[in-house]
Amino acid sequence: MKILNAAAAITIITIFILVAAVVVASPEKTDKFGCHKCMKDCEKYSLVKNEYHCHGSVSVQSQNIQIAPRIYGNTTYRRVARIIDGDTLTAYFNGNQQVIRLLGINAPETSPKEKAECYSSQATEQLKKLVATKFVLLEKDKLQNPNRAGTIGPSRSSDLGDDKDKYGRLLRYVTVIGTNVSVNEELVNGGFAKAYPSLTTKVEEYKKLENAAKEKKLGMWGECFKEKKNETLTRLFPLKGKRIDKYGEHQG
Ligand SMILES: [Zn+2]
Repeated sequence: MKILNAAAAITIITIFILVAAVVVASPEKTDKFGCHKCMKDCEKYSLVKNEYHCHGSVSVQSQNIQIAPRIYGNTTYRRVARIIDGDTLTAYFNGNQQVIRLLGINAPETSPKEKAECYSSQATEQLKKLVATKFVLLEKDKLQNPNRAGTIGPSRSSDLGDDKDKYGRLLRYVTVIGTNVSVNEELVNGGFAKAYPSLTTKVEEYKKLENAAKEKKLGMWGECFKEKKNETLTRLFPLKGKRIDKYGEHQG
């Protein structure tokens, strides 16, 4: 009888200590969805303090939880909210939508609507197919300097390789969680976007992918340039530093 009581007492004390330890050691304990608010080291995970986020692969249920980023290891994945066009989307940051411009590529423009470029709607659809409602990794190029925001991207004044373009859009490489598909590459591969000559470490690589798509007449290269000659393609999309002077070409 005494032994049983002692065993019961030890068990109760042990449970008590364990519960106390959990409460003390886990100010960042996750809820039933594997989610919680960020309390410390938030910057390390690309979160702001108190930003609600989730860990691991617990299934997502409530609307509120769907917009939380997910963290695997030390990597923060953002949920895609909206596709704007073939190279622009929004993702949830702390419950708000942040516009992301895919770095190093350029898809045909969808606006103004009456002047929508050839293959712009297909490019938009393709981006939707690749990332809609998915969690994505948003990565900078190492040439991007966060202290020089607002100087590159479409309509840039110069290509300095910075964090945002002058519209406040984050310039990022986008990779889909799980499949590890590089969205920027996929779009160029399929002829949905061209290499964009901003100063990134990927310029040459993307240009090669673009040329391969051109050769196979994929996407816009088959659909939009049927009657046009190579010279026209080059003039439409000059590479920085390799601008074609259409008069100069005919001299000498
Ligand atoms: Zn956390």
